[in-house]
Amino acid sequence: MSKHIETLAIHAGQEPEELTGAVMTPIFQSSTYAQEGVGIHKGYEYSRTGNPTRSALEANIAALESAQHGLAFASGMAATDAVLRMLSPGDHVLAGNDVYGGTFRLFDKEFKRYGLDFSYVDTSVLDQVRVGLRETTKIVWLETPTNPLLNITDLAKVAEILRASPEPPLLVVDNTFATPYLQSPLELGAEIVVHSTTKYLGGHSDVVGGAVATHSEEIFNRLAFLQNAAGAVPGPLDCFLVLRGLKTLPVRMDRHASNATVIAEFLADHPKVEKIYYPFHASHPQREIAMTQMLNGGGMVSFVVNGGAQAARMVAEGTKLFTLAESLGGVESLIEIPAVMTHASVAGSPLEVDPGLIRLSVGLEHVDDLREDLESALQMIE
Ligand code: PLP
Repeated sequence: MSKHIETLAIHAGQEPEELTGAVMTPIFQSSTYAQEGVGIHKGYEYSRTGNPTRSALEANIAALESAQHGLAFASGMAATDAVLRMLSPGDHVLAGNDVYGGTFRLFDKEFKRYGLDFSYVDTSVLDQVRVGLRETTKIVWLETPTNPLLNITDLAKVAEILRASPEPPLLVVDNTFATPYLQSPLELGAEIVVHSTTKYLGGHSDVVGGAVATHSEEIFNRLAFLQNAAGAVPGPLDCFLVLRGLKTLPVRMDRHASNATVIAEFLADHPKVEKIYYPFHASHPQREIAMTQMLNGGGMVSFVVNGGAQAARMVAEGTKLFTLAESLGGVESLIEIPAVMTHASVAGSPLEVDPGLIRLSVGLEHVDDLREDLESALQMIE
């Protein structure tokens, strides 16, 4: 019997520990493991290669993404880096033109130097994906919803386009914003899912981590090799924190989304707000697709206020409950200006973000308090 995600989030990959019966997977803070004889051991030799706390996390993430395999990394960027290392000079990556700024930076400033080619399209427009494919395209990399504009790409349709290629590229989806609770890219035809576990999976703004999930044995073997060879692994305490966060992922995501829905409506009706971006809001151009492939609209809301960059800054500096900070996905609400914070690295590139855009990570506080906080900050604009 296949279990529901709420049950898997709590139990997958975790049994009470054999020696003591500890219900929570212990933090196996050990770099090495005793061997009974040369090469005779209990499955662990050295913690870069494998660690029991990490194994529990990897199994849990695989189960949530309905994948065969999961791999944990030291950060979301380390996970992205490992996936890109599967390629060779001359290979082409077709990427979304609204990806996380750090992802663009790694592609553009590092992997380009090693002979990989990148081009960027709006993956929510299927024709742009079709036209953007080259004979050398090995990966199509996208986010849906995107960071920070919350654009939605129809994953099943993109997967169909790729399958029609003579040599289908891999579809890689950064599922950080949606999380496996809202959206299952592998079930919709993707080969690889990437996560910054720093965000909703960890959920408490107390850990930096990353993960990859896949069905493919071949991709898993290659990535496991890279994980060990390059060594960007998370420590056992970090794995424990993500594991603990995952147990409440479904309940947290429901509340993030219900709060974000109220905040999106409030902002959409506000006279000082020019435009809002929220996947399930009536004004969202890809709302229909979002409602088909996602369980709810998630916890992220972006918006533009009247008065441009200066007004946006006043609002972002004027809230009291929404903390002015980078990152997202924690229990506490955050506010930021992508153009000068999370997405500063794309300034001057085709991915440049409107300086008047504000991004909210709507947390789990009472929604009336959040609304009041935004209202008083918005009152500061002339
Ligand atoms: N992907 C997305 C969508 C992100 O928002 C981020 C970070 O903000 C990353 C990847 C990178 O993750 P990390 O900061 O854990 O390296």
